[in-house]
Amino acid sequence: MSDKPKVAFFDFACCEGCQLQVANLEEDIIKLLDLVDLVEFREVMTGSTSETYDIAFIEGSITRKSDEKRLKDIRERSKLLVAYGQCAVNGGINRLKNIWHSMDDVKKCVYGDDSYMPHLDTYPTKGVDEVVKVDLYIPGCPINRDEFLRMVKELSLGKIPRLPNHPVCVECKLKENICLFDKGVICLGPLARAGCGAICPSNGSPCEACRGTVDNPNKNAMHEILDKYNYTVEEIKRTINLFGVNPEVKK
Ligand code: SF4
Ligand code: SF4
Ligand code: SF4
Repeated sequence: MSDKPKVAFFDFACCEGCQLQVANLEEDIIKLLDLVDLVEFREVMTGSTSETYDIAFIEGSITRKSDEKRLKDIRERSKLLVAYGQCAVNGGINRLKNIWHSMDDVKKCVYGDDSYMPHLDTYPTKGVDEVVKVDLYIPGCPINRDEFLRMVKELSLGKIPRLPNHPVCVECKLKENICLFDKGVICLGPLARAGCGAICPSNGSPCEACRGTVDNPNKNAMHEILDKYNYTVEEIKRTINLFGVNPEVKK
């Protein structure tokens, strides 16, 4: 019998983009399979197991009562539970439905006249740790494949993986990009957690903090930048709030 950790992947409400990042590891998937025994992963295999898991990777947010029951069952059977992708970490994009609209409006918008049907019921979006204990978070929308591989390697060696704790601006400046604020574009790089290689500003798009914020975001520095470029907090909350991060750093 293999002594490699038994690993399973599960998805809840999401676009499945994070599991696609794993499924698309290409030749690196071999490296992954050298480290772990894959026992359940709907996107890439048909098998499942009734045994326990060493590591369960959870993608997606929790949006209905039946999700909670399923998630608690996975938690009970898992030694280590990892929330991967921002939907699982804190609700991600799905959490927008909690902010701007009533649940009835959300349901009617998506399901129209069928929205009353019981199997379409939904409640305000929750991150995984609002239902069960989470041992490790892998942020991002989607996750960064290299970071995922590094973290799995470290886990399989019994280490506790760490996330970068400096802002995206650091990676952006190392790439010698011209700051988007100088081009009249609002960017959340000063607050956002690095680790993605500042991929968005490097390609001309603002950082929307899809990886959440650093542990102690420097709000004063952000406010100084906003003052310098004549933006207000309210303006930014209206224009760049996809992942619930804004200069007040309320998630
Ligand atoms: S975090 Fe983003 S890419 Fe990943 S499942 Fe959610 S919406 Fe899709
Ligand atoms: S473009 Fe964004 S990430 Fe890059 S330096 Fe400016 S604020 Fe920071
Ligand atoms: S630059 Fe910002 S929005 Fe883009 S991937 Fe990195 S953290 Fe996410």
